[in-house]
Amino acid sequence: MSADCVFCRIVARQTPADIEYEDDQVLAFKDIYPKAPIHLLIIPKRHIESIARLTPEDTAVVGRCIQAARLLGEKTGYGERGYRVSCNVGPEGGQVVYHLHFHLTAGRRG
Ligand code: AMP
Ligand code: ZN
Repeated sequence: MSADCVFCRIVARQTPADIEYEDDQVLAFKDIYPKAPIHLLIIPKRHIESIARLTPEDTAVVGRCIQAARLLGEKTGYGERGYRVSCNVGPEGGQVVYHLHFHLTAGRRG
């Protein structure tokens, strides 16, 4: 847990969020500024800064995040229609929050 990390604070229930999915390693919640009708963020509970900081030990939890994306795509009704899973990496990749997260967006093209 990184005390100054907003997503760690959500994991610790110190900052409120609309949680849509949780298991032992992964949490998913609604993006506070949604850019599509469905906009969820899927994160490892453990603080990992970004894809750029992944180690071999992180491989399994990244897979778990993607499995959660599949479940949430289905749960939100977009399993067949489709959805986007994306991840911003670093300053020029548009990353603002330095706790690894995958955006799941659905319901709008583009
Ligand atoms: P990124 O640019 O990939 O780092 O995206 C960070 C995302 O986190 C943005 O889409 C923000 O709207 C979202 N965000 C920031 N703070 C919160 C929060 N407290 N709860 C939910 N989403 C948040
Ligand atoms: Zn964190």
